[in-house]
Amino acid sequence: MLKYILHYPQPIIEQVQRLISEERLGEWLLGKYPEPHGVRNNKALYEYTMTLKNQYLRKSAPLNKVLFDGKLSQTYQALGINVSRTMAHGGKLKVRKEIRIGTLFQNAPEDFLRMIVVHELSHLKEAEHNKSFYQLCCHMEPHYHQLELDTRLYMTQLELFGSLY
Ligand SMILES: [Zn+2]
Repeated sequence: MLKYILHYPQPIIEQVQRLISEERLGEWLLGKYPEPHGVRNNKALYEYTMTLKNQYLRKSAPLNKVLFDGKLSQTYQALGINVSRTMAHGGKLKVRKEIRIGTLFQNAPEDFLRMIVVHELSHLKEAEHNKSFYQLCCHMEPHYHQLELDTRLYMTQLELFGSLY
């Protein structure tokens, strides 16, 4: 039941356990994140992502596509993915890059969408989840770590009590 937050410090786990047992997790999330974002389709998601990319990562590889993908399993490891495809094009090899975001984020607070987009954009520069990767995430979104935790709480909410909005 707490599988999404198991690696967090014990006091955090206990706080969440309390919210769940008092059936107040949803209320707590709604207090912090009263409404879902308005990025409803893949075109809007592409524009949303490109705005962030142009602001922070103008020089990184171009991005061909950004889309919501219902096939991404709802495990934390695959909330979003980077896909790189090499295609033959007129005798040359061309790399096409895309970002796929789990449909979990389609009806979610904007802060959570931004967190996962920032995460996937950072992978354009840094493949591993290392220190410079997280520095980049935090540069683009100063509350990155808090939002990652809150996203995990949101997933816990969905699993235990269903949709928030
Ligand atoms: Zn990652």
